[in-house]
Amino acid sequence: MSVIELKVPDIGGHENVDIIAVEVKMGDTVETEQTLITLETDKATMDVPASAAGVVKEVHVKVGDKISEGGVIAVIEAAGAAASAPKTEEKPAPAAETPKAASPAPQAANFSGSADSEYDVVVLGGGPGGYSAAFAAADEGLKVAIVERYSTLGGVCLNVGCIPSKALLHNANVIDEVRHLAANGIKYPEPEVDLEMLRGYKNKVIGKLTTGLAGMAKARKVDVIQGNGQFISPNHIEVALTTSSEYEQASETGEKKVVAFKNAIIAAGSRVMNLPFIPQDPRIIDSTGALALKEIPKNMLIIGGGIIGLEMGTVYSTLGTRLEVVEMMDGLMQGADRDMVKVWQKANEHRFDRIMINTKTVAVEAKADGIYVTFEGENAPKEPQRYDCVLVAAGRAPNGKLIGAEKAGVAVTERGFIEVDKQQRTNVPHIYAIGDIVGQPMLAHKAVHEGHVAAENCAGHKAYFDARVIPGVAFTSPEVAWVGVTETQAKAQGLNITKSVFPWAASGRAIANGCDNGMTKLIFDAESGRIIGGAIVGPNGGDMIGEICLAIEMGCDATDIGKTIHPHPTLGESIGLAAEVALGVCTDLPPQRKK
Ligand code: FAD
Repeated sequence: MSVIELKVPDIGGHENVDIIAVEVKMGDTVETEQTLITLETDKATMDVPASAAGVVKEVHVKVGDKISEGGVIAVIEAAGAAASAPKTEEKPAPAAETPKAASPAPQAANFSGSADSEYDVVVLGGGPGGYSAAFAAADEGLKVAIVERYSTLGGVCLNVGCIPSKALLHNANVIDEVRHLAANGIKYPEPEVDLEMLRGYKNKVIGKLTTGLAGMAKARKVDVIQGNGQFISPNHIEVALTTSSEYEQASETGEKKVVAFKNAIIAAGSRVMNLPFIPQDPRIIDSTGALALKEIPKNMLIIGGGIIGLEMGTVYSTLGTRLEVVEMMDGLMQGADRDMVKVWQKANEHRFDRIMINTKTVAVEAKADGIYVTFEGENAPKEPQRYDCVLVAAGRAPNGKLIGAEKAGVAVTERGFIEVDKQQRTNVPHIYAIGDIVGQPMLAHKAVHEGHVAAENCAGHKAYFDARVIPGVAFTSPEVAWVGVTETQAKAQGLNITKSVFPWAASGRAIANGCDNGMTKLIFDAESGRIIGGAIVGPNGGDMIGEICLAIEMGCDATDIGKTIHPHPTLGESIGLAAEVALGVCTDLPPQRKK
């Protein structure tokens, strides 16, 4: 028997990549090509396969660790041929970027029955990806149906995600702004919050949009079939019809319909990721529970320091809840540069009693007087801590394994993602997949663009998802927005960049608005001079980042951006000024050396 170290192969130059899943443990027998770990960059997940077979003797990594090419994952005692092979180190196959099909293409099922209806395109899932794809396909003149299990279109984003969270954040932001006015001599009494009315406002916003979508489906003659859809062959979906009083609540009527399709677009999205050790208790909520805004607890633990948890935390904190947050990684809002997050964190210190990073939640117990949570790690308190409410915001899981994809012959990875090519095609060429179900980043704007690409291909065009960048935004207070290469990534990947920062302390508008703690950063490729990334922290950063996205897509350099006349006085001006900083010609800052 020989001992072999299983190492991280070529991962396309990424370094210090997060390990988000470890699939092996000591004593396991692994086969060659079996997934050992899953890595996640901000753009992709990668399953790292074993380069040799054998029995695992040591596992050197755990979830939350960071690893680079050459890092040892595990040590195995090799079996069979590997054991007798000469002791030269085999170069492992490079890890494939995602969403990689961990499982081979399944054998499709046959369906010889008759269909109740036939379409050019059936879209499974009516979220932002699904309805956008369906409407675009209908605009191409195709006969289209959407299969959606709940009674409204719009998916997670519109019903229990982007939109209701922003409706609540808008109210919270206004309250915060008004509180800040006290320092300018304008004093209001503390607000009286009528939760029922606030919920009503949020529901009205959702209702306006979902009604609009239903109308647009009708106007385009897109059939919306309400039910739970499952593939039964590569050209048929069986729909168990449902009734649904509200989003995420559906009961089957017992009636079934079979729809036949020439093309299908899988847009079945994702669901909240449940942690196995968390009990059922009304005081333990997920993002949907948080949006329901049943009450304002005195204190709340947020499990997971990502965007969704921090956005919801902002709402609750403004309404009076004291916050704590626990995050396994080494900082909140992973993905954004630390200098940006630092500005947000300083501005939000007052909301938190404790921020626990590099810390794991290991046990949660529901008792009569509260929820008791035990932690492990760098910032873990020794004793279990008591909370009135716990918000679990530990991520979302794709729905790939819940739609009978195997009956259509569509490959689904172990984690439930569906692999697609640049045309959004799955391994079955007339079946496409889009949105959260195809991989990170799980964002509505990515889903919509992918939906348009899939629809155009269904119509016979040759369309590709070839966006250079996908922006990310935390709609917190202040907002943190970023796009393209971050400074952290550039460092990790050894990229030759130049960066320029325009501090909002030098912006007239930011000073006038009381947000001079903000910052706009641009990142350029040092050789070509083209912009490859950017970030903004400050109010409306999410609205402004679009200009940087466009500049990256257009291949702009600092002169293009700096010589574009931005209106004065605006916060958006800071992008042009940051470009002037890059050129060494910014006259709104102390003199720089001209470049
Ligand atoms: P989904 O929106 O998940 O829609 C999938 C649809 O498919 C669902 O309606 C589901 O009911 C249906 N479905 C699934 N399986 C079946 C089946 N078998 N039969 C019939 N129907 C089925 N993104 C942003 O870009 N910006 C934000 O500000 C933002 N904020 C968010 C805030 C919160 C609290 C959450 C939870 C998410 C947020 N997101 C945000 C993420 C965004 O909501 C998702 O990326 C987006 O909704 C994904 O769209 P999708 O079309 O892929 O899938």
